[in-house]
Amino acid sequence: MQNTTADQASLQIAPAKGIFIDNEWRPASSGAAIDVYAPAEGTVFARIAAGNVADIDRAVAAARQAFESGNWGRLTGVERGRLLARLGQLVLDHIDELTLIEARDTSKPMKQARADILACARYFEFYGGAADKFHGETIPFLNGYFVATEREPHGVTGHIIPWNYPAQMFGRSLAPALAMGNATVMKPAEDACLTPLRLCELAAEAGFPEGAINVVPGLGTEAGAALIAHKGVDFLSFTGSPEVGVLVQSEAARNHIGCTLELGGKSPQIVFADVDLDAALPSLVNAIVQNAGQTCSAGARLLVEKGGYDRIVTAVVERFARLRAGTPEMDLDLGALISRRQHERVERFTTRAAADAIPLLAEGGIAEGVPSAGYFVTPKLFGPVPRSNILAREEVFGPVLSVIPFADEADAIVAANGTDFGLIAGVWSQDGKRALRVARKIKGGQVYINAYGAGGGIELPFGGVKKSGHGREKGMAALHDFTTLKTLVVKHD
Ligand code: NAP
Ligand code: MG
Repeated sequence: MQNTTADQASLQIAPAKGIFIDNEWRPASSGAAIDVYAPAEGTVFARIAAGNVADIDRAVAAARQAFESGNWGRLTGVERGRLLARLGQLVLDHIDELTLIEARDTSKPMKQARADILACARYFEFYGGAADKFHGETIPFLNGYFVATEREPHGVTGHIIPWNYPAQMFGRSLAPALAMGNATVMKPAEDACLTPLRLCELAAEAGFPEGAINVVPGLGTEAGAALIAHKGVDFLSFTGSPEVGVLVQSEAARNHIGCTLELGGKSPQIVFADVDLDAALPSLVNAIVQNAGQTCSAGARLLVEKGGYDRIVTAVVERFARLRAGTPEMDLDLGALISRRQHERVERFTTRAAADAIPLLAEGGIAEGVPSAGYFVTPKLFGPVPRSNILAREEVFGPVLSVIPFADEADAIVAANGTDFGLIAGVWSQDGKRALRVARKIKGGQVYINAYGAGGGIELPFGGVKKSGHGREKGMAALHDFTTLKTLVVKHD
């Protein structure tokens, strides 16, 4: 493999500027910085500020001021909606620049990075339109009373996002919170936070008042830990690992505040023998390959009815073997993994599969000419995987698909629900009644029939049960979580 770093130098990136508080860049109070790696190259290409507890303190104070007495807290829903819509438009106006930043920072293919920037814009458009349309109701009560409910923002909301979709997560987490009038503090992931650092600048350009959006990059164990424990935060929104999710919920409990947790999954695609295979195949494969499998809602378990096992698996094998990983500019099926640590994690799972004698059914390739230090892995299809095996139960967060046979409809439901997670699922069958019966028995936040929606659908409520977390993001449902309900009771007789 030859080194193509020279080609990639054409991807020029605006340098990160520090910590964004009150619409201004400030240096980290400690002066410390963190190296940023381009995963496709395995080399450092930028540096970000390492925020700490003092920086989080400042950001929370700025948000508090904006909410209580600044220009942000005074705005009506219509005015907030206009700002969100303006930011959505600015994101679209800067789509080429943002796509380059996202692609280099995460190593995802350019087409995926571009789709992510469009989705980011779409979050601001959607919630811009919703800002003045989510409201309370009147309630019939006793004679002589008038009762109404009102949706109020929490105040200061804390947002911790992961590295897999930084631009999308910026929109997904912040847009509904802002639409409802909360003032926000975000701690993006140190492994990929350059688009959030550019997006907050664009927000200031769109006209968001000081303190509405504050972004503090830094380590999870410092800036993240300070944010989740902060007594000045009124609500927490977290996407990431189940382990850190437990810490977030513990801190939220200590401070008597609510939180939403989106913690990933081991989502099943349930394929019956009567599947329309030509229609299903692209989704069955793409659901695990998209973003190199580093997607919370990746379709990581392929449950296949025994009656159609050979035909279905043969088709998946053929397609899987043709998959190629490459640099963002190569724009192939997948890019590199995000970090050396993630690379080691995925390799551990595949080493374990070999030790457990799980058959490797198909393996994709890595394109000629990718930098040798990049964090690339080949996509791998394993099966049949016993239901008790780690590959059938734990989230790999890489391009690794486990094929698991099932006997019939009842067995499919048992298998689908047989992990600690419950995020999304797909059911593939031409028998509509059966597909619907199965879908309704699945424990999870979203179920698709003859479709699969890893990461898509801004309009669609999304979230999990069990170890996948709780609370709902996306759609109008997110507005419930980012508000609190007050009931006004008036006696007029
Ligand atoms: P992670 O540690 O949970 O990271 C998610 C976010 O939480 C990052 O911003 C991280 O900051 C922050 N964080 C880490 N420790 C924290 C703490 N003690 N207090 C507050 N915030 C903290 O996830 P990861 O280590 O990057 O990835 C590990 C595994 O988690 C993956 O392999 C995957 O299985 C899962 N994961 C799931 C999702 C999802 O979308 N559900 C996303 C990412 C990862 P820093 O990164 O800056 O340290
Ligand atoms: Mg991390």
